[in-house]
Amino acid sequence: MLTMRLILLGAPGTGKGTQGERLARRLGLPHISSGDLLRAQVRDETELGRTAARYLDEGRLVPDELVSGLVMPAVLDAAANGGYILDGFPRSVAQAIKADELAARSGAGAGRVIYLSAPSQILVRRLLDRAAATGRSDDTLDVITDRLRIFESETSPLVDYYRSRGVLVEVAADRSEDEVTEAIVAAL
Ligand code: ADP
Repeated sequence: MLTMRLILLGAPGTGKGTQGERLARRLGLPHISSGDLLRAQVRDETELGRTAARYLDEGRLVPDELVSGLVMPAVLDAAANGGYILDGFPRSVAQAIKADELAARSGAGAGRVIYLSAPSQILVRRLLDRAAATGRSDDTLDVITDRLRIFESETSPLVDYYRSRGVLVEVAADRSEDEVTEAIVAAL
């Protein structure tokens, strides 16, 4: 069976969630968002959710085992059923190595990694606008600044990690939602 296995990589505010949903509809694949899965645990007041909430509210990375235990079963299941659009995971080289190990056994590793890039002033503006619209608890200026810093230190090394594996495609994310979606589809 032909499967499409995509990872969306990018700083907070680059539109991973928006594009993830659009691509999922367009390609008929599940959108697996680590942030959405974590927020659902917080909403449901599970034990994992109670632990994760502290990290989410401070914009810090939730411990690897918690996130991986939540996300990887969904990824492996989707990979066996046509593919996935994965957003927000992995978010560090350690998570990527672990995910590759788990996925390689069943051929479930990502075929393409879409790196959404945009200047950081634009990202801060977008996240503050979203805060006004949705009231997400981590969309305050202090936490946004920390999340962008953590992206730079923990997540951006993944750009080289995937580039050296020949699966990275960079797409400029400082344009309209439609333009970004079309650029991603064209790159697939
Ligand atoms: P954004 O990319 O805008 O920060 P997300 O919904 O992807 O939004 O992530 C929100 C928060 O969820 C992160 O700041 C972090 O606390 C937590 N989180 C999401 N994915 C991961 C991950 N792979 N590893 C650790 N923490 C994560």
